[in-house]
Amino acid sequence: MAPPTPSRLSLSQYVDGVLARDRTVLARAITLVESRAAGHQSLAAEVLEGLSSHAGGAQRIGITGAPGVGKSTLIESLGLRLTEAGRRVAVLAVDPSSTVSRGSILGDKTRMPLLSAQAEAFIRPSPAGGGSGGVARRTREAMLLCEAAGFDVVLVETVGVGQSEVAVRAMVDLFLLLLLPGGGDELQGIKRGVVELADILCVTKSDGEGAALAEQTRAAYAGARTLIASPTPDWMVEVLACSGLTGEGLDSLWDLAERFFQQVEGSGFLLQRRRDQALEWMRATVQQELERRFYQEERIRALLPDLERAVMAGEVPPTVAARRLLDS
Ligand code: GDP
Repeated sequence: MAPPTPSRLSLSQYVDGVLARDRTVLARAITLVESRAAGHQSLAAEVLEGLSSHAGGAQRIGITGAPGVGKSTLIESLGLRLTEAGRRVAVLAVDPSSTVSRGSILGDKTRMPLLSAQAEAFIRPSPAGGGSGGVARRTREAMLLCEAAGFDVVLVETVGVGQSEVAVRAMVDLFLLLLLPGGGDELQGIKRGVVELADILCVTKSDGEGAALAEQTRAAYAGARTLIASPTPDWMVEVLACSGLTGEGLDSLWDLAERFFQQVEGSGFLLQRRRDQALEWMRATVQQELERRFYQEERIRALLPDLERAVMAGEVPPTVAARRLLDS
């Protein structure tokens, strides 16, 4: 069945519905901001503008890790604890694979069934299409919509395989990297650069027979943490072990997250980071839009096929071809 046409609601229906914390309207508003149709985009911009003064109130937390590390299990357990404690939790998934292969690393299986069933939780599966920049743009807008709908914790989940971590780091306050017990960075397919985006490292599956290995891995990373550059000034990267399955270690994880927020709020860094992120977001949006408009130009569309062919055939150097396009 085709999804409902997003533009069927009016501007005030979107704005009022989101503010009234209507999850159905929230979901439709996210579909609207994800839409590429020109008519939808101008309405989406109005909806975002109408809600922007109500956004910004959540703790924005990015969670990444290799497929199978235990992200959805951990997010479900942690999310349930938080909703039990009276928090309202939104989970947004950024899945770069869905744009490349049409398959999805985050999976089409019903993820986090218990958390989904909570009235105080909202789970949004990954948007498809658009490349990592596009995914991030829409995720960011979805995050603002969730905040306007009163969610005070937004968890942005991404798979630790590509560029999406950088995009997610650029939109969250706190970034958590999940690690499998046993493997070093190389084994886990994690680039050092990704480790250096994280404020907290957490070794997963620390339960039963796996607990000892998880603890060993934790100790190894903890021993190396003075070598890891922290993305957040005056914050020493912390390393924990936990189990999404048993809940072991999740209280410590959340205590640590709270300590992080106290610190960055107290020091003023949270505000500064968000200001920098907002500026970066604006610049990235301009860049994307300029590129989109450029390639839509008649003259460019007329020139492009021949130039592309000539570049591939080695007849025209790429920089010369690029200049010709730009000059036209
Ligand atoms: P994701 O791909 O990172 O979202 O990982 P999942 O949460 O789907 O978990 C992948 C597999 O690891 C599943 O078979 C889980 O049952 C298992 N798993 C996840 N968390 C834990 C944990 O804390 N302890 C143990 N023992 N297994 C876990």
